[in-house]
Amino acid sequence: MTSICFATNNPNKLKEIRQMVPDSVEIRSLRDIGCEEELPETQDTLEGNAFQKARYVLEHYGVPCFADDTGLEVTALGGEPGVYSARYAGPQRSNEDNIDLLLSKLEDKNDRSARFRTVIALVGLDKEYHFEGIVEGEIGTELKGEGGFGYDPVFYPEGRDITFAEMSAADKNAISHRARAMAKLLDFLHKRS
Ligand code: IMP
Repeated sequence: MTSICFATNNPNKLKEIRQMVPDSVEIRSLRDIGCEEELPETQDTLEGNAFQKARYVLEHYGVPCFADDTGLEVTALGGEPGVYSARYAGPQRSNEDNIDLLLSKLEDKNDRSARFRTVIALVGLDKEYHFEGIVEGEIGTELKGEGGFGYDPVFYPEGRDITFAEMSAADKNAISHRARAMAKLLDFLHKRS
């Protein structure tokens, strides 16, 4: 049995991954390993933050760990907000303020292409690994839909004419950046088991 910590306490993320890992892999949350503290996240790339969180858990709690980090990368803004997606409009981490700022910065731009990118860093096995998931799309001009979170009401995934916030959770999960990165991690764990 391999026991791996997923550096989160988000019950939805934990439930989803536990249903998908091989029987030989046990997934433990931060709480399960006794970690109640905030993990450091001070790097300026998604890769940097994901590895920083995973290595912190390995070094302080002695268990193999994977951690994820996600950002929205907008082409016309040189990849902004990227690693700063959660606090784009300030430390209050308001989805509404973040979207307002994004739409105002895009007002005079023709290119509205963007992508969500998730990086998962895995440490503590034989060596370090990372997995990436991307969904390409476009930023709309106004908010549409009630579902999802973050930038979902303004993100149109490629090939669809509705936003992530207008899709069911299952439809979003079938194509999302996070699901794609998770699928690569799972594929790796299955091949290894
Ligand atoms: P995290 O790394 O998963 O915490 O994501 C960082 C930030 O990126 C979130 O606070 C959101 O603003 C944004 N974000 C991440 N995933 C999504 C998504 O699936 N839809 C919309 N926004 C997202």
